[in-house]
Amino acid sequence: MLELKHVKKYYQVGDTVTKALDDVSIAFRPQEFVAVLGPSGSGKTTLLNALGGLDRYDSGDMIVNGTSTKKFKETDWDAYRNNTIGFIFQSYNLIGHLSILDNVEMGMTLSGVSKAQRKEKAVAALKRVGLGQHMNKAINQLSGGQMQRVAIARAIVNDPDVLLCDEPTGALDTETSAQIMQIIQELSRERLVIMVTHNPDLANQYADRVVEFVDGKIQRDTNPYHEKTAHHDFQLKRTKMTFATAIKLSFKNIRTKKGRTFLTAFASSIGIIGVAIVLSLSNGFQKQIDDTQTQTLAKFPVTISQVATDQTKAQQNMQDSDQVKPNKGYVVAAKDQNESAQHVNRINQKFLDYVHRINPEYSNNIGYTRLTGMNLLRKINGKVKTVKFSNSSDASQDLQKNFSSVSGVGVSSFPEPLKSKKNNFLEANYKLLKGAYPQKATDVVVVVNGKNQTNVNALKNLGFDIKDGEKINLNQLIGTSIKVANNDDYYQKLPTGNFVPKEDLTSAYQANQTKELKIVGVIRAKQSSNMDLLAPGIAYSDKLVRQVIKDNKASAIVQAQRQSNRNVITGEAVSGQTKDQLLATLGGDSMPYSILIYPNNFKDKEKVLNYLDRFNEGKSKQDKIIYTDLAGTMTDLTGGLMDAITYVLVAFAGISLITSMIMIGILTYTSVLERTKEIGVLKALGARKKDITRVFDAETGILGVASGVLGVLIAYLATFPINSVLYHMTDLTNVAQLNPVHAVILVIVSTVLTMIGGHLPARMASKKDAAIALRSE
Ligand code: ADP
Repeated sequence: MLELKHVKKYYQVGDTVTKALDDVSIAFRPQEFVAVLGPSGSGKTTLLNALGGLDRYDSGDMIVNGTSTKKFKETDWDAYRNNTIGFIFQSYNLIGHLSILDNVEMGMTLSGVSKAQRKEKAVAALKRVGLGQHMNKAINQLSGGQMQRVAIARAIVNDPDVLLCDEPTGALDTETSAQIMQIIQELSRERLVIMVTHNPDLANQYADRVVEFVDGKIQRDTNPYHEKTAHHDFQLKRTKMTFATAIKLSFKNIRTKKGRTFLTAFASSIGIIGVAIVLSLSNGFQKQIDDTQTQTLAKFPVTISQVATDQTKAQQNMQDSDQVKPNKGYVVAAKDQNESAQHVNRINQKFLDYVHRINPEYSNNIGYTRLTGMNLLRKINGKVKTVKFSNSSDASQDLQKNFSSVSGVGVSSFPEPLKSKKNNFLEANYKLLKGAYPQKATDVVVVVNGKNQTNVNALKNLGFDIKDGEKINLNQLIGTSIKVANNDDYYQKLPTGNFVPKEDLTSAYQANQTKELKIVGVIRAKQSSNMDLLAPGIAYSDKLVRQVIKDNKASAIVQAQRQSNRNVITGEAVSGQTKDQLLATLGGDSMPYSILIYPNNFKDKEKVLNYLDRFNEGKSKQDKIIYTDLAGTMTDLTGGLMDAITYVLVAFAGISLITSMIMIGILTYTSVLERTKEIGVLKALGARKKDITRVFDAETGILGVASGVLGVLIAYLATFPINSVLYHMTDLTNVAQLNPVHAVILVIVSTVLTMIGGHLPARMASKKDAAIALRSE
């Protein structure tokens, strides 16, 4: 069944050539006990390794079941070893970190036998070699004879056709040797057993046939055989180690050196810790920077007013004033410098539409200031009275002085999101103390400051009989209503042609067109620094103002004012800008007095400014619209600096990552050296090169995951003391924040890097010559 034909194997070391097998031809019967005798170095082990497919020869052929093995590929040899051959070594070659059962099952694990079947067969084999009682012991708890029994059980568990034994009793005492020999002899009744020994007594006592070797040649054969079996195909079952098996093997190996593994994982996690801490710090700082930027821009929006200062011109004026001209005997008439830098922005519908098309990603909040007044009415104790909103911007306060006859003039509405609900200005900057954020145009809110105060006049205007310092329950405020009357219902025309508010406003209060405003909520700025965004008092939407303007545009008073050069209420003469403004306060101008654009951050602000600049392209000086960038002096420097620092720190931490990767490589290499025997055993049992690589890859994989998880965990724990230190130093809270996504990525990076580091030694391990690996001590 097994036949060697003219097999030669020479070893050349330096100048000397050792003929380990020198043209050996020999055939074996399917069932016999052959002892190979010979002095040390005569080539017996080489013969056994060749027969077992552990080692290749230089020339000749081996015939298995009538089939030449000349065309065998690596995987065929692996399968051949696994299916056909059982090895028994002098030094047992058990895998110390596996249990007895695992050792015996290994060959079947490689050929994919189911777990239950594996166990059943392994137990049967162990019972057969007389180890039924000791199955649960650890390998190092066994005596030499018991270990050899385990090795025999491992060799026969797969029921191989050939059992190859290399000095199986070489390390055992006489009594134990006899027991082992009896087991082997018994096994030879079912199969071919070839045993290498240098003990002629053993050979003669137990073997059916003795073959003597000298210098790689057969010198004597007591029972020669000539193969007559015709060629018949035989099928080999391929071996394959699943990744799960590889992981299990590695886990069991790692378990035997817990301390070292922990230290390694810890050392190689230092790189991960570094990167994780740097990332979490920069996360936090970036968040702080972003918050500051958004806050700053909420206070200093990009503003487009009807009257603006041309910054470049103003700057030029400044520079000019530094230059002194010599006395030339005359004076030059010049405009006031500030006046000459003034620019009138002709805000029109086209520009409004353009502003509305701003990418909401850059700025989703736009506020408007309009000069329009509102005819506010409130019924107090059955009497209808006019009411004023007292929270108005500085600009409108000036106007109010001029146009004291018109109530609630020049009011800033709160900015409203352009499109999406994202970054809603009110919701982002204001906390709801009670009620709800406004939804409808007629919803208004009361704004209070950090001390929960609001303008006493605003409250009085709402009809609350209240003195400075008194308190009103929030519940009382919510639901309070005021009415806005149209001009035509509010004003009456006197015979003189002048207009005055009606004496009895009850009809205006009850008119159909009169709108009812409701206080739906009380809000307060989230950050004390944002307190001045909306003055304490009453705030309402631009939608409402637009509706009021729409309703009043064609009213009698507006039409009369449009045609007259006198203030139709007071009779004073008005002209030019003053007249335009007066008209606007009456609701005759649908264009806002100023537009306030709130970008999300400095970068977005630049984009908004570019967008606004594009509007002016190709326009004449008059038609240009100039904005005022109130936050202009604050640059994006901090953000860029932060990025740079992060890169440098990550680079440093990255270096330690690479270092730990190299360390893991070295460790795997040591592990490979340590486990050389195991590699040999696995190969003898039919493991493929790939499987061996897999075992070590699994080990580095486990190490990588462990060090990644450990690193992330330590970094996470470190954020607490770091934050506490930063808080004491800078008053900033929770700066270091480990992003869970970063944590996951870092674990993956650690795993991949360590696996790369360990893969080279793992490949090396798989290339180890099985024959040499088994010879190593
Ligand atoms: P035996 O098993 O009879 O003691 P071996 O088969 O182990 O003999 O060795 C036969 C000869 O081949 C010896 O001289 C040995 O030194 C030599 N040999 C075996 N393996 C190698 C090797 N890897 N490199 C060089 N020489 C080797």
